Amino acid sequence: MKYDVSSTKEGKTLLLVPSFSLSENVPPKNPAFFNPNAKWNRDISILAYKIQASSKNNRTFADSICGVGARGLRTAVEVPKIETIYLNDLNPIAIDLAKESAKLNQVQDKCNFDTNDVCKFLNFQERDFRKFDIVDLDPFGSPSPYVDCVLRSVSNRGLISITATDTAVLCGVYPNVCYRKYYGFPLRTEYSNEIGIRILVSFIALNASRFDLSIVPYFCHSNLHYLRVYLKVIFGNLLANSVSSKIGFLKHCQNCKHRKVEHLKEQNLVCEICGTKCNLAGPLWTDSLFDSEFVGAMLNELKNNGYYSSSPNDYNKLLKVVQTCDNELAYPSYFETDTIASMARKSSVSLERVVSTLSCNGFNVSKTIMNDKGFKTNASPKEIINLLYK
Ligand SMILES: [Zn+2]
Repeated sequence: MKYDVSSTKEGKTLLLVPSFSLSENVPPKNPAFFNPNAKWNRDISILAYKIQASSKNNRTFADSICGVGARGLRTAVEVPKIETIYLNDLNPIAIDLAKESAKLNQVQDKCNFDTNDVCKFLNFQERDFRKFDIVDLDPFGSPSPYVDCVLRSVSNRGLISITATDTAVLCGVYPNVCYRKYYGFPLRTEYSNEIGIRILVSFIALNASRFDLSIVPYFCHSNLHYLRVYLKVIFGNLLANSVSSKIGFLKHCQNCKHRKVEHLKEQNLVCEICGTKCNLAGPLWTDSLFDSEFVGAMLNELKNNGYYSSSPNDYNKLLKVVQTCDNELAYPSYFETDTIASMARKSSVSLERVVSTLSCNGFNVSKTIMNDKGFKTNASPKEIINLLYK
């Protein structure tokens, strides 16, 4: 197949990509897939991998479905502490482009290329080592079929980063598909993306526990098109045994917006506030989604050495997200200014005012990286409305 190739710069890395992937709204899969809109998503990856590589001997990175190699090549160029990069994609045209880009950036000596099935690539027995230190999985659609292979392929205290692009499934449009793929029921509500992330993390944690592994979430984020999680994987059944204490259900009252974590043995579906029968989401991860040490290190790195982005706008957006995350409360759900306004039958109040009002009145309150209009607080919906609209 004949096609034009262009070079584009992302971070410090030059990438060779099919020309039309730079101009079309939805980048085509053929002859090779490259999504320029995922640049910011990859900026976060580079930042996270850099933190991981500085805290432990992390020598190997596997980009298991690499497309034209954007994430793997950027890691090779921009995270020098990682010594060897493995790039794999079933599409040989994509791998040919990745090889050429590696030469262009003079990182060909640390890059290895493969055109295998994801699971065969990750669990290839004849390599001189068995486990990668960092593994990325970014498939089209659901990562669910590959999660086992990723977990089998990562070293002790290694990092896995996983993207899910089936947001409609995880965020509540297709609850039966969500249960089938992730063993959890989603919920259509203003914080459905956070529930989606928590269902994904719970699914990975339960799969990990089958292999005597446990996971610790480092960082998670989402937008309309994807949910993405960064998790540490720890070997040993001692921690894995406690997985059940971190997984439960979230009860949500569609009437008064009250929500509460429920555990399997003590489920009570009646809303404590208004008596309405609630919806139940889960099983889902009820523990923290962020590791404060890891997020703090991300923030320091950004402030001290932050060039991750070739555009100042993207850098500022990244800084804002990591700052917000650094202060985010560990509550498992958030409120949205618009939902509160519509419950009060009033117009929306700015997020800044919501935060200052609740905080001045002695409540815990923070913004959330899950939603630009979202906030987390220990105030009840009624208390929020009374304070904002009294
Ligand atoms: Zn209620």
